[in-house]
Amino acid sequence: MKYHMIDLRSDTVTLPSAAMKRAMCDAPLGDDVYGEDPTVNRLQNEMAELFGKEAGLFVPTGVMSNQLAIKAWTSPGDEVIVEKESHIFNYETAAPSMMSAVQLHPVAGEQGMLASEGVAAAIRPDAYYYPRTALVCIENTHNRMGGTLHPIDAMHSLHAFCRENAIPLHLDGARIWNAHIATGTPFSEYGAAVESISICFSKGLGAPVGSMLLGPQDLITRAHKYRKIYGGGMRQAGMLAAAALHAVEHHLPLLTNDHRRARQFAEALSASSAFRIDRERVQTNMVLLDFSTSDIRATEAQARLHEAGIEIGMGMGDMLRAVFHLDLDDHALDRAITIFTTLFA
Ligand SMILES: *Cc1c(COP(=O)(O)O)cnc(C)c1O
Repeated sequence: MKYHMIDLRSDTVTLPSAAMKRAMCDAPLGDDVYGEDPTVNRLQNEMAELFGKEAGLFVPTGVMSNQLAIKAWTSPGDEVIVEKESHIFNYETAAPSMMSAVQLHPVAGEQGMLASEGVAAAIRPDAYYYPRTALVCIENTHNRMGGTLHPIDAMHSLHAFCRENAIPLHLDGARIWNAHIATGTPFSEYGAAVESISICFSKGLGAPVGSMLLGPQDLITRAHKYRKIYGGGMRQAGMLAAAALHAVEHHLPLLTNDHRRARQFAEALSASSAFRIDRERVQTNMVLLDFSTSDIRATEAQARLHEAGIEIGMGMGDMLRAVFHLDLDDHALDRAITIFTTLFA
């Protein structure tokens, strides 16, 4: 890819800054498989404290973090309730069936949000011929819906319902940072609304690698063993943990710029006749451009944008998805708007 291209594909494309690289080089290190990397330990302790959880486990990816949660909460033959458009159901290559030998039970949410009614209908009665419902998973912000928010009150009421049924609730919080910045809801309140959370440092926060599973100590102890089994035991991982610490400390407040740029982009292009933007759904750093009522297809638009200097990914169906991130500034935003308005008046 040409370096001057404007890359709207994902907030994962950011490169570590010079200051982040320095923090990585200067980090005190040890062997994390022996539990001796001070920087990994510091990150795990600080994140557990931030989210009000007993313990944290640093892992290479968000997929591993979600899959460790599923592995540690379930037994083979169990069932896990997930939202139909969730990352776990769509983008984790059927890992729960391979790694945990569990079945996913997808339930359609409202704008990606599972509610008690939908979950209630999916919980299996206690009979020998049914699987056991072992876990419910939600996602905030919701990737496929375009970075939409799951309001904390709705999370609390779903949590209360899951508790009544003695089913743990897991949050895929790859972009919980964006949810916090958009709503002001404290991280500890998100933590209190679920039993376990997966967080990513390599999305909007801009670290090169790293995610974390947070939850009760006994869950994390089990997940620690499975992390080793999955090949995720890393040695001087403090270099990566240092990038994550730097990202939380310095990049978290900057997410507000990504959200503002997404809104400005959506507003500037809302009059286009080539696609539609549902501005209600522009809640964080993503904008979905719907071509389904247009005379050109999203894939065609994607190719034209590429020629004009913009990389952009597909959304669900006939949509393009623009994602704003740390490596895009206001100049890139202006250029992107100009290119879009020139191509699709
Ligand atoms: C990116 C993402 C993940 C997985 O992250 P990887 O680090 O790419 O494995 C999980 N859930 C959601 C919602 C994501 O956006």
